[in-house]
Amino acid sequence: MSRATKTRVPAVEGWFTLDHEPRLLGTRCTTCGTFFFPRQAFFCRNPACSGTELDEVELSRRGRVWSFTDNRYPPPPPAIASEPFEPYAVAAVELASEQMVVMGQVVHGVDATALSAGMEMELTLETLYEDDEHEYVVWKWRPVT
Ligand SMILES: [Zn+2]
Repeated sequence: MSRATKTRVPAVEGWFTLDHEPRLLGTRCTTCGTFFFPRQAFFCRNPACSGTELDEVELSRRGRVWSFTDNRYPPPPPAIASEPFEPYAVAAVELASEQMVVMGQVVHGVDATALSAGMEMELTLETLYEDDEHEYVVWKWRPVT
């Protein structure tokens, strides 16, 4: 089967859109306005808030590097890593309008030495693994060039 006929599916369901310009799916507390990713469904985690209603929202596609590291060992579940494991960079990216930090792998081929605090990053999707019919994709951060 040729690569072109494979269906792209999310490696984790409901965490991001599969659009050409993908977005992470989070939630926002209708009481205090705090954003969450991964989504909080039943109650607000803001200790100063007793909100129980959260709207699903698409998060900003761009942010700035807050911290980063090289991940040289496979992460524990529920994180998903390639088999066989290849080291990759991980970035915590601050989304300005949501005032939150979102962790993510950095795209293949960009290691931690290429990153710096404050660097602008955007969300993209990369294939994590595939079978005969599907490509399983996950969100990653890519430096904005
Ligand atoms: Zn709240």
